[in-house]
Parts: sequence; C-alpha cells; structure tokens
Amino acid sequence: MARRGVPAAVPPEVGGNSAADPAAAHAPRHDDAAQRLPQAFAGKAITTAVAPDEDRPAAWSPRVFALIEWRRFEAVCEALFAQAGLQTRSQSHGADGGVDIWLHSRNASGPVAVVQCKHWQGKPVPVSAVREFFGTMAALGLKRGTYATSSTFTRDALAFAQANGINAQDGAGLLQLIASRTPEQQAELLAIAFEGDYWRPTCASCGLKMVPRSNSTTGEPFWSCSQFPRCRGNQAMTAAAKARLEARG
Ligand SMILES: [Zn+2]
Repeated sequence: MARRGVPAAVPPEVGGNSAADPAAAHAPRHDDAAQRLPQAFAGKAITTAVAPDEDRPAAWSPRVFALIEWRRFEAVCEALFAQAGLQTRSQSHGADGGVDIWLHSRNASGPVAVVQCKHWQGKPVPVSAVREFFGTMAALGLKRGTYATSSTFTRDALAFAQANGINAQDGAGLLQLIASRTPEQQAELLAIAFEGDYWRPTCASCGLKMVPRSNSTTGEPFWSCSQFPRCRGNQAMTAAAKARLEARG
C-alpha cells in the first residue's frame, strides 16, 4: 500500500495511513485494543464495541472483500500465490517501499516478482499508482509484478499494466481466480479472510489493530491506532464498518 503521512484527526482514504513509527515497528501484532483506549485524543472515543458480522458469507463473493480489512485482503492475496506453489514473504506495516508481498521460487536466490495490494472499495486504481509500482519493480530489477485490488482499474491503468508486463488483478479477477481453486483451497482462503478481528483494520504504521473514534468536530467515525498518541496511524471507515457501528448504537 502507498504510505502517506496524514494529520492524526483527518482520516485518509480507506487503506491509507500515516507515517511509520520505527519504534513501534516490532510491537506485538495482536492486541485487545478496545480495552486500552488512550485518554487524550483530538477525537472522541467510541466506546461501543464493534462486533463481528453475524451473517458473514459462507462462500466467496464481492461482499467478502467489503467486510474484511486491508490486512486480511493482503493475506488472501498472499495465500493465493502460496497455493500456486510460490514462496511468499509479506510486510504488514511500516515502510514497505511500495511492495506488499515478495514472491520467491526455489530456483532463484532473490525475489522473482513483487505484489502490490490495494484494498479499495468503489474508487478505481489510477494509472499513477500502477506507474509508481512499475518504478518500484524497475528499482528492484524485477520484470514481473502483480497489482491486486478489491476495486477496479481505470482504462489508462489497465493499458499501462498490459504494456509493461504487470499482472493487473481487480476484485472480479481475484474472485474468478479463487473460483478456479479446489473447494478445499477456497475454504482455506475464506478462513484466512475471516481470521481474527477481520473487520477491525490493522494500523499500517505499527501493525496493531485500530479502535473506532469520532471526529470531535464533525462526529464522523474513523479508525485510530490503539497506541495513540504514541502512534498516529488512522484511516477512514468503510461503509460496512460504519453500518455495524450504527447498528450497535
Ligand atoms: Zn499504530
């Protein structure tokens, strides 16, 4: 995912995040964040627990991508490559240099390809993002790369990907790929999608789970790092997460 710095109280687009905090980079990944809300914050804490969806799908559909957080989306993409026999390595947070997953084969020492994942909903991936990824591939000396998104690509982005050997996989393409796998593999991928607090985003800066808060001026809910103010990671809330918050009162 593209890492961008944003002010703490202004949620970026879904999947965006704030500057990395190197000190927090090796903090434990799993965290019961809702129990440890920091006292001081520009926004108001929302104390209502965000509970998992009770009627989560039992089979793959676009709704799965809508319900899960970006880190689960990356994990599904990684598992798709692992099922295809590749050795994978991922970096779930911090500065990633424009790479989310490295792909290795047994016959080569370095990575053979890299993957960029964009868990976006509604907004198509623009050509600028695919161009940036191509630049990353070139800097790494790699000719192969996959750009995966839960959303779609603009026509320019697709044309650029095709012209430069980038495998562009949109949400529909990923679902087709998943549908071509054995029932056991599809079930394995679904279990990975819904692993743990699948609905609660991971802080892209420090790798801990985020907590819901509301903007003190607009009342708009957003996700804030559970480690605020030590970590200022934040991101906008998906429609699905907002609906769940509202349903819970
Ligand atoms: Zn954080």
